[in-house]
Amino acid sequence: MREVAKDVFCVGGTDVNWVLVRDGSDLTLIDSGWLGDREAVEESIRAIGHRPQDVRAILLTHAHLDHMGALNHMHDQYGTPVYMDPAEVTQARDGHLEQASPMDVALRAWRPSVLAWSYRIMRAGALKHLKIPHALPFPSEGALDLPGHPVPVACHGHSSGHSAYHLPGAGVVATGDALVTAHPTARSAGPQLLPSFFSYSPRAALAALDVLGELSADVLVPGHGAPWRGALSDAAARARRHVLKE
Ligand SMILES: [Zn+2]
Repeated sequence: MREVAKDVFCVGGTDVNWVLVRDGSDLTLIDSGWLGDREAVEESIRAIGHRPQDVRAILLTHAHLDHMGALNHMHDQYGTPVYMDPAEVTQARDGHLEQASPMDVALRAWRPSVLAWSYRIMRAGALKHLKIPHALPFPSEGALDLPGHPVPVACHGHSSGHSAYHLPGAGVVATGDALVTAHPTARSAGPQLLPSFFSYSPRAALAALDVLGELSADVLVPGHGAPWRGALSDAAARARRHVLKE
């Protein structure tokens, strides 16, 4: 776990990150790992001196299994609501996810390190079916009335309703899978898009970099890879160059 800015924590699960944002005694959780990361999510909350009940809401970047694992548990145990872009709600509720299967990935990005990763994620729940019946769209436009006042930033492409979350006060953007800094299927580290076979619309995913590049922040916390320090415009430019190199 790393405190990437005051009261903003990036936590690593099974090859995926979630983010805790603190405001006094209250927390916002952004994403929630795999099903197998459920306990690790609760431990991370306790590690910063809080209880799971302190989480006022969970914000989902997108309805893929590696980000939605603890949502039902948190809702069943503590009544924690989960909000997301309106365009992502149906997939989350129905469980018809726009997601590459471990087999798709193994066929397209075969390498020993990818095989080891496939094994890890299958143990963490990559073959499970998951529905989030309580999935809700954002309750309001603009900054949300939640700890850290996160501002949803629509960056559709990786999935049809993918959202990043800007924390203007902390100078942080949680980019989910719209802009990552590493992935077991990637050849190098640094700001980049995920390989195109992970995306619902690779074209929209590329265009979303323009939106992210305009945000005023100096820390990027991705869904996969280490947090990255620097201007978001620079991160977006690096990701565009990375696409050209691949
Ligand atoms: Zn992901």
